Amino acid sequence: MGNWSRAGTMISELVLATRNRDKVIELVALLGGLGITIHTLDEFPDAPDVVEDGDTCLANAVKKARAIAEFTGLPAVADDTGLEVDALGGRPGVYAARYAGEGATYEDNCLKLLRELSGVPRERRTARFLTVAALALPSGKIQVAQGTLDGVIAEAAVGSSGFGYDPVFFIPELGMTLAQLASDQKNRVSHRAKAFASVREILSPQVVTVPPVLSL
Ligand code: IMP
Repeated sequence: MGNWSRAGTMISELVLATRNRDKVIELVALLGGLGITIHTLDEFPDAPDVVEDGDTCLANAVKKARAIAEFTGLPAVADDTGLEVDALGGRPGVYAARYAGEGATYEDNCLKLLRELSGVPRERRTARFLTVAALALPSGKIQVAQGTLDGVIAEAAVGSSGFGYDPVFFIPELGMTLAQLASDQKNRVSHRAKAFASVREILSPQVVTVPPVLSL
């Protein structure tokens, strides 16, 4: 993975290319402490609403990041997340947001998933989140990173933290759904946390090694 700081492109400002407030909260936490000023799209009310019509999370993440970097003239980062459920042949996948139809709420999507998996035994309820993060410069230059999280679709929604499919995504190693984790715990283990750990590396300023002072 390249490092733009080392390549001479210092990034001091970054726009989060999403209007999803739940994602904004996680991304602000995941990108903190780098000395980079984070902007949200609230500061750019005329920014285009990017249509997520790609067949892959990669295509959608790149499209969102590029469009917002071009519009704002600032580096932009986007995230696109899919949910692959094995018993459904990988659905809803990249179409996770519209799984229960256009304008579906988080609850609609979770309920549809529970309905579709009703009667499916636990060992066949395996699933994974995939997040692709794309970091774009106004020049069009782009870097991408991805993160995954394996789990099992629960039999019922449990927990009230997080968002989206978190209440039905059970992590066997933790014995809890993502919605039962505190936000800082989710931000240590999630698919998004893994993808953005790589983004942090790309953004990290070069470590300057100062030559030792000669003592005479
Ligand atoms: P998108 O990346 O905004 O297209 O998200 C696709 C779908 O996955 C939406 O329904 C989101 O609510 C859901 N989603 C995205 N990230 C997460 C997450 O971290 N946990 C649970 N659901 C998520």
